[in-house]
Amino acid sequence: MTISKVAVIGAGTMGNGIAQVFAQNGFDVYLRDVEDGFIDRGLAAIDKSLARLVKKEKLSQEDAQAARDRIGSGTELRGAKDAQFVIEAITENPDAKRLVFEKLDQVTDKDTILASNTSSISITKLAATTSRPDRFIGMHFMNPVPVMKLVEIIRGLQTSDETYRVTEELSKKLGKVPVEVNDAPGFVSNRVLMPLINEAIFAHMEGVATPEAIDTVMKLGMNHPMGPLTLADFIGLDVCLSIMRVLHDGFGDPKYRPCPLLIKMVDAGYLGRKSGKGFYDYSESS
Ligand code: NAD
Repeated sequence: MTISKVAVIGAGTMGNGIAQVFAQNGFDVYLRDVEDGFIDRGLAAIDKSLARLVKKEKLSQEDAQAARDRIGSGTELRGAKDAQFVIEAITENPDAKRLVFEKLDQVTDKDTILASNTSSISITKLAATTSRPDRFIGMHFMNPVPVMKLVEIIRGLQTSDETYRVTEELSKKLGKVPVEVNDAPGFVSNRVLMPLINEAIFAHMEGVATPEAIDTVMKLGMNHPMGPLTLADFIGLDVCLSIMRVLHDGFGDPKYRPCPLLIKMVDAGYLGRKSGKGFYDYSESS
């Protein structure tokens, strides 16, 4: 199967990064979001990221322009019609994702592989909303996509070996390192990472230490490049909460209960970097 065109559904933090990486590696890309404003914001983020790579002399101006020219965009799902590979990166909401896959199943060719960048939702369940669960897979990129090497590739119960092979090869073509994982709540990355972040929020809520102190302990004491609360702000507190809920529901184990402070912050609209405030204040930097 030759893949030359990829559709990316959702132009947010992850979607625009995924679109950029595919375009930089020679693929034609269709980037879809629900409103023009969201697409414009995604394309602006890509322009900024490409300009940064040119400035750092990691990419020539010509290659950056060529990558940018490979990206088409729109609000119509039909734009994904002629893509051989579709990756969904919309909001972490199972119902919204199911709806998108039901429609993608109708508009795309029957051979097209459908992939989800979900952080935690069951790939087997999402696959079951389509008529092609064998050509459905999890392709979980890390944030920021242009920088992070890992792609966690998640096999649903019915994912075929061929679909896995194509996705693995595709990840390598993007310069990423694919790791094979089976379908389970949070896969490996978030099953291990999110309880750590959640526990750090509990420690802060209970007055054990300030966010700065917690992050310093983990950076200097455990050699983590970023403290857990800085990382939570970076990922988005709404995304963190959704993932904790998936772990809690999926395992039915109270150890995965989301910290009440995390819930309260999301209710208040404190979503981290993207909203200008989370555990830290970003109003000056954005
Ligand atoms: P985000 O909120 O930044 O972006 C989501 C985008 O999807 C928004 O622009 C929204 O308008 C758009 N959208 C919503 N419904 C849509 C639809 N029906 N069709 C097209 N676009 C639609 O979210 P994000 O952080 O980019 O996360 C996207 C996905 O990637 C989630 O499943 C998340 O769990 C996963 N993920 C996130 C991270 C991270 O660090 N943020 C890391 C790995 C995976």
